[in-house]
Amino acid sequence: MSIPPAFDPPACLLLGPGPSNAEPRVLRAMSRPLLGQFDPRFTQLMNEVMDLSRQVFQTANQQTYPVSGTSRAGLEAVLGSIMEEGDRVIVGVCGRFGWLFRDIARRYRAEVVEVEAEWGQIIPAEAVEQALRAGRVKAVAMVHGETSTGILQPLDDIARLCREHDTLLIVDSVVTLGGSRVAVDASGWDACIAGLQKCLGGPSGIAPITYNERVERAVQSRRMAPETNYLDLVQLERYWGPERHNHHTAPTSMVYALHEALRIVVEEGLDQRVERHTRVGRAMGAGLEALGLKPFGDRAHGLPFLNPVCVPEEIADEAAVRGELLHDWGIEIGAAFGPLQGKIWRIGTLGYNARLDNVRRLLVALEQVLPRHGFQVPLGQAVASAEAAAAERFAADPAIAR
Ligand SMILES: *Cc1c(COP(=O)(O)O)cnc(C)c1O
Repeated sequence: MSIPPAFDPPACLLLGPGPSNAEPRVLRAMSRPLLGQFDPRFTQLMNEVMDLSRQVFQTANQQTYPVSGTSRAGLEAVLGSIMEEGDRVIVGVCGRFGWLFRDIARRYRAEVVEVEAEWGQIIPAEAVEQALRAGRVKAVAMVHGETSTGILQPLDDIARLCREHDTLLIVDSVVTLGGSRVAVDASGWDACIAGLQKCLGGPSGIAPITYNERVERAVQSRRMAPETNYLDLVQLERYWGPERHNHHTAPTSMVYALHEALRIVVEEGLDQRVERHTRVGRAMGAGLEALGLKPFGDRAHGLPFLNPVCVPEEIADEAAVRGELLHDWGIEIGAAFGPLQGKIWRIGTLGYNARLDNVRRLLVALEQVLPRHGFQVPLGQAVASAEAAAAERFAADPAIAR
């Protein structure tokens, strides 16, 4: 019998659209001893996770807890527990994660009304308004940060329209929580779903969610139980609530990870964290432009910490560029999906990775790698442009110069 060696991967710098590198403190938390799931020390930790999640989502919602599973488990739990066969849901689609919402809604037999925009653009509120006129819409599902295209969707007008039409607004903030401003109550979002591996600085595998009483009522007043047991919000509420209903086994180490990640976010401060993501992302954007790479899509509505750039025409094999970055430099950047496959790269500085030293590392690597694949770049300018862009933000607000 042969036993493979213990798995000991090299440290890679993950500068794609997620997963990003986890905070070292989060990884240490995951190696702590396991407790039984109803051990009072563990249930106390669960309560702290709920409380920290409320602070980070900026909500007073009682129902604020994580779903065990990756972010889409959170999306599916919320959508699947609200929608019943034939209910109408409007889904905003301008990228891959709009597709995901659409797919989940269809699988739960909702009647899906798509409101589309070109990939790389936002969805205009007027288009959602038009769709709402059809009447009898139970929910509007929108992606806050469309990670496949780098777009930050404005939601204020859409939230107002949902109120006017007495419709629930469900928001995918998987990539934005911890990186962009997310203020669930002030923004009038009824439900919001996030994930750990994007701007929260942990590994994938647990999905913080929050929803208000309007959603609770929709869930409680269903004619029939949802088709899912694992992701049934009614049971999950009873498991995370004081009743401690025995549902699934807690993913203990993931709860430790989430607890530590949220502690770090609150310690840093929500505004400071958004500022750091903005400053470092803008610096990366400036450096990439100095290399001659063209930004993709509507950057006026872009996620600052996720820079999509067009693959230059001169480059015949974009996968070879990514391969060389990964193998020779230990840096991963993101490819793209669907209509954008092979056409753009997505470069993220998310969570723990939102630091200037990572920007410098990638820019220096690209300066060496791109010319070998046929794209000439000006030497020695990218890092300086990135530093200048970061300094501009220091100057704008010295209080955040850290
Ligand atoms: C990453 C991501 C998801 C899916 O997350 P998983 O953890 O892979 O299930 C959903 N929506 C958005 C916006 C994302 O960025």
